[in-house]
Amino acid sequence: MKNAVTDRLLECVRDGRVASSYIIEGPPGAGKLDTARFFASALCCEDPSESGAPCGECRRCRLIASGKFCDVSELYSEEGKPVPVAAVRELIAETSLIPAEADFRVFVIADSEKMTAGAQNALLKSIEEPPKNTVFVLLTRDRRSLLPTVVSRSVCLVLGPMPDQELKKRLKEKFPDADGKKIDFAVAVSGGAPGVAESALEDGELISRADSVREYLAAVSRGEGPAKLGAIISPSSCTRQSLGVILPLLKLGLRDVLIYQNAPGAAKPQLLCDPDELSKIAVGISPAKAIRLFDRTERLLGLLGVNVNALAAMASLNLVACSKPGTV
Ligand SMILES: [Zn+2]
Repeated sequence: MKNAVTDRLLECVRDGRVASSYIIEGPPGAGKLDTARFFASALCCEDPSESGAPCGECRRCRLIASGKFCDVSELYSEEGKPVPVAAVRELIAETSLIPAEADFRVFVIADSEKMTAGAQNALLKSIEEPPKNTVFVLLTRDRRSLLPTVVSRSVCLVLGPMPDQELKKRLKEKFPDADGKKIDFAVAVSGGAPGVAESALEDGELISRADSVREYLAAVSRGEGPAKLGAIISPSSCTRQSLGVILPLLKLGLRDVLIYQNAPGAAKPQLLCDPDELSKIAVGISPAKAIRLFDRTERLLGLLGVNVNALAAMASLNLVACSKPGTV
């Protein structure tokens, strides 16, 4: 694993300047947990390289990769619920213990923005006066939803999109049996987020979903009503997981349309690869509607990690898709 964030974290380990708290920020599927585990491995590995990189093979590295090493604790919240204050207090109590095996104790809090203000304040004391060799790693979609006092006392790192080539390499390792075309497609729909690319590959129906999204856009361009759109992608059959594939595909198709309308040929189409199909759809959807649909899709994608209801999400999208000029 290598990106600008892991480089920076390795630098801290190498120079012996490890802070007591780190915030790793990135959208869902960006690889926040993997990055945190990589960092924990770098701190605890039995046989790190000269650059400080963990070996990835020793017992500790393997246990950390599966979330089971005794000196690395991970705290999760239930979907849609806040991180319980009691769990945070329990975690803080654990910080008084010295590491059992490694030199460091690492505490990873996933979805840390779901901690209540009370929980964050309790944590703040430990961040300000941390027991020796204790490191907190807070993962979040948006650090602005954390208390400013927590943010100001942490080293903040933002996970950007993973470069295509690296993502491709990672997918080939994880999915040795997947064919190249499917991997290319997963890379294209992911927007550089490894988790999104992986769930696209795990979803055996990726190709058929891409067909549905093309058909959906064609129906929008013909001015079909909600019933017809609902027959192509039925809101009631959409789960959050399926939306996690459908929305990125839709965004890709709308991007193709917007490029065709505003700067034809500026970039290679990624979903609407047939030029006839693309021109037909791009001519049928007004530029204003294409922008509104793109914005709505992007907004829903941002809400996916929070608590969006899949049925309502698709219904709101269909509303924009069927709108007449000036109504939505
Ligand atoms: Zn190791």
